[in-house]
Amino acid sequence: MKKVGLTGGIGSGKSTVARMLADEGFVVVDADQIAREIMEPGSPVLEEVAEVFGADLIGEDGQLDRAELARRAFASKESTERLNGITHPAIRAESERRFAAAEQAGEQAVIYDMPLLVDLGLHTTMDLTVVVGVDVDERVRRLVDKRGLDVADARARVAQQVDDSTRLAAADVVIDNNGPLDALAPQVAALVEKIKDL
Ligand code: ADP
Repeated sequence: MKKVGLTGGIGSGKSTVARMLADEGFVVVDADQIAREIMEPGSPVLEEVAEVFGADLIGEDGQLDRAELARRAFASKESTERLNGITHPAIRAESERRFAAAEQAGEQAVIYDMPLLVDLGLHTTMDLTVVVGVDVDERVRRLVDKRGLDVADARARVAQQVDDSTRLAAADVVIDNNGPLDALAPQVAALVEKIKDL
């Protein structure tokens, strides 16, 4: 089974492309979704996060206040790394488990939707690395307009990630999403053919 890494800076449209690939019938392992699942009420990862970042992050219903955790964790490089040190090993293990399940199910390929694929050097473990590329200013605009982040928060999150030139240098395929949404379809169609030929 081939592993296809799909990545892009925050706000690039990576999730949009992942949905399109899922619609094409590919199994998508979504690292962000796993990151949420490992912090469900009562999980050991959530307990550790609460110990480090504050017990008040967990509401009476046991749910994590993700927005507040993001504010605290992304406040500095050190605190970001602290959070990553707790969550990344758990995300990695669950991702591997899902790859194995896809292989067991006889999938020809699996898509790994992973924002930090290049930041963490995981692209080297993929058979194909796909980067969704959008200029930083446009990404910030989309995060503000469509996700309701304020500009400073959007820029801070962009700054926490690997820079665009490093990410693009790791790409086997670049999907250019600077244009309108309907410009994605032909690029995704070409990508689908490429994946099938792996
Ligand atoms: P990511 O997963 O890379 O953070 P998303 O796929 O969530 O990014 O896209 C960020 C936002 O921008 C979403 O609201 C999405 O609908 C929107 N978006 C994606 N591609 C385009 C595009 N080409 N033009 C305008 N908006 C877009």
